[in-house]
Amino acid sequence: MMRCPLCSTAGHTRETAYLEDGSKEMIVQCQNVYCSATFVTNESFFMAVESIQQPRINGQSCSSRESENG
Ligand SMILES: [Zn+2]
Repeated sequence: MMRCPLCSTAGHTRETAYLEDGSKEMIVQCQNVYCSATFVTNESFFMAVESIQQPRINGQSCSSRESENG
C-alpha cells in the first residue's frame, strides 16, 4: 500500500509490472474521491536481514559451507 503524495490517503494499486532489474512498478490511484490522483510507484530490493542462527533441518546446518576456523 502506498499513500497518495498529494493528500496522504491510502492508494489502490491498479496495475503491476515486474521489470527486468527485479523491481516492481505499480500504477496506484488515490482512494480519496476529492483527489483521485493517479501515480506510479517503484518497489525494489534494499537489503537482506541476517538471522541470528543458521536455519537447521534435523539438526544439520542448511549452509553448504563448513566452518573454516583454525
Ligand atoms: Zn490523494
